[in-house]
Amino acid sequence: MWKWKTIIEPFRIKSVEPLGFTTDAERALVLKQAHYNLFNIKADKIMVDLLTDSGTGAMSAMQWGGIMTGDESYAGARSYHNFEDTIKDLTGYQEVIPVHQGRAGEKILMSLIGGKGKYVVSNSHFDTTRANVESSGATAVDLPVKSGLDFDKPAPFKGNMDIDALNKFIKKTGAKNIPLCIMTVTNNSLGGQPVSMENLKAAQSVCRKHNIPMFLDCARFAENAYFIKLREKGFSKMPIKKIAQEMFDTADGAIMSAKKDAFANIGGFIAMNNAGWSEKARQILILTEGFRTYGGLAGRDLEAIAIGLKEILDEKYLQYRISSTEYLGNGLLKCGIPIIRPTGGHGVYVNAKKFLPHIKAKNFPAQSLACQLYLIGGIRTVEIGTLMFGRRDKKGDFLPADMELVRLAIPRRVYTQSHIDYVIEVFKKIAKHKKDIKGLEIVQAPKVLTHFTAKLKPMEQKIEIRKPKAVSCK
Ligand SMILES: *Cc1c(COP(=O)(O)O)cnc(C)c1O
Repeated sequence: MWKWKTIIEPFRIKSVEPLGFTTDAERALVLKQAHYNLFNIKADKIMVDLLTDSGTGAMSAMQWGGIMTGDESYAGARSYHNFEDTIKDLTGYQEVIPVHQGRAGEKILMSLIGGKGKYVVSNSHFDTTRANVESSGATAVDLPVKSGLDFDKPAPFKGNMDIDALNKFIKKTGAKNIPLCIMTVTNNSLGGQPVSMENLKAAQSVCRKHNIPMFLDCARFAENAYFIKLREKGFSKMPIKKIAQEMFDTADGAIMSAKKDAFANIGGFIAMNNAGWSEKARQILILTEGFRTYGGLAGRDLEAIAIGLKEILDEKYLQYRISSTEYLGNGLLKCGIPIIRPTGGHGVYVNAKKFLPHIKAKNFPAQSLACQLYLIGGIRTVEIGTLMFGRRDKKGDFLPADMELVRLAIPRRVYTQSHIDYVIEVFKKIAKHKKDIKGLEIVQAPKVLTHFTAKLKPMEQKIEIRKPKAVSCK
């Protein structure tokens, strides 16, 4: 078959929303009023929102149809059974528990197995997973491969776990103190990099040997399966669903945020074979989420997730998704913007430490770049750096984080290739005057989850911003 070069969205658009166009002066004012914290900006003042790919995807006409026909029965709803059957068929796990989003599943799982003196090991915990492990009293231990921490050097499976480190850690700690191993696919905290089937199997074999249950944190399982198809020997002809099933076969269970690869705006699940654990999980579920056939969800949400979990297995979609993300990454590299290489599944991560070496860590280079992207182009991204990690010394000063990244997360099926070209154009403009970009200073910052509510100001404000007329940004 003829292979075309153009990246084509494998869908056409049936329903649209306007973008938030603003003037330069308006954005300068909005940013100032938001205290240089992009979480404080009203979404309708944003042109291209790359804050997160979580819950921001576009549902298909089929999913919207499912929203209308969803069964809202309290117990035993048809939509629940569609949801359960789809997940059983995909994962092979027999116990399915719906939750309102990923972190609710994490909380329930950790109440079963967490606690003081316990260690949960992972290729890398996602932040809410880590927070739930630690709030149970247990310690979250990340054991990523070394290549995962080298941003500049491409490798096919930088999301992998370091199996030697796992063996050593088990030897040191004792398997009885490790109630769970979590493999995050793709590895969100390290740039959305995939985990190979070989690595999943190696982790499984170590865990089995020591009787440690292994779960997948499978928010982006289909993107991971597609990378396996592309990059791992022996998978190039295998259908995505089969690869996904083989991934689930390596583990004893999974937790999923359906806001990612299930194309849903809300939802999640826990799935496993262990009937003892699932019974206990359902007892907690009923206290905090709801009855076992709806968790924290409406029937229509269960229906949309069941449909989304089938749609995500479409190889044409995944090919477009991964190519489009890579296209953005390559576009930035061409403008001399350093990024984590190779590009991951759901986004591009810009290395702000390298791009803006003249800004010290205490002046938040990644947050400064994120603010520029809004100021110049109305693009919202998220800082993953000193502000997000927010560790302080005794005097209360910020300690530099290991990395200063700006994440451009791409919502699923929402933006077209021309939006992606626009983002590249904005970066090109920023690259030209990067030396003039100033750092930021803290005005006010809480001790926990600093990045959500911190207030900042530019180190040196050269231009006095005048309030434009006919604009209200209350
Ligand atoms: C988003 C995410 C979660 C948490 O899910 P929520 O639905 O946001 O609560 C957990 N793990 C990974 C890998 C995620 O990407």
